[in-house]
Amino acid sequence: MFPLTEAQIRRYARHIVLPGVGGRGQRRLLRSRVLIIGAGGLGCPAALYLAAAGVGTIGIVDDDVVEESNLQRQILFRPEDVGRPKAEVARERLQAFNPDVTVIPYVERFTAANARDRVAGYDLVIDGSDNFPTKYLASDVCVWEGKPLIWGAVFQYEGQVGSFPPGGRPCFRCLLPSPPPPDQVPDCQQAGVFGALAGVIGAMQAMEALKALLGLGAPPAGRLLVFDGLQAEWLHVQVDRRPDCPVCGDRPTVTEPVDYEAFCGIVRAPRP
Ligand code: ZN
Repeated sequence: MFPLTEAQIRRYARHIVLPGVGGRGQRRLLRSRVLIIGAGGLGCPAALYLAAAGVGTIGIVDDDVVEESNLQRQILFRPEDVGRPKAEVARERLQAFNPDVTVIPYVERFTAANARDRVAGYDLVIDGSDNFPTKYLASDVCVWEGKPLIWGAVFQYEGQVGSFPPGGRPCFRCLLPSPPPPDQVPDCQQAGVFGALAGVIGAMQAMEALKALLGLGAPPAGRLLVFDGLQAEWLHVQVDRRPDCPVCGDRPTVTEPVDYEAFCGIVRAPRP
């Protein structure tokens, strides 16, 4: 394996002395590839910690541009970035934080058409998306491509982090077999989200991702952590594998991407 440079030994000194990481673990991180879906409230802090930790390649999928209302929690962005593609700005910032890191921006939606290609090139996926169609798509594709998935969600003052093993068993569909009706799913714009909460959950996703890459602690095996921000309490929920899961169950019935918006009951106006 390649040796660390003198500069890397200085930069990652606090990792290198850490039992469980060491020079070997640090080299592993430098060779690792993580795909982050969404450069928003979760993706920004997650990406920052992965970049600072020296994860060698970080892919970021996001087709949005920075808006003023993002700045309250999406900590990679500054006022002068408003109007620019998030994935491009994220690349500039992250590479400035750590030149060891290669950031690959994908200024596009994560769709049934491109999802498998994107995920296949990475070791692990962090889902920082904010909608159910993307969350089901990300989970299904991670099962089919055999990649661990670190899932996250925030709503007002509550956040959730889920870890799912490569190949599922369980997967996100085992946790939530069918999505809630779209009229019962308010988004951040309608419901609001506490900025620092996104930081807590995004940093937790980075922590779980780094542990999975290093083989540290409990492997991602179907756990959901629920954080009640107002009470400052974490709840630990075991996610059980469902033998009848349509994707990771004994007799899968969904084996390729479906129309996730239809699955989630979302009717989208046709594009002009
Ligand atoms: Zn499943």
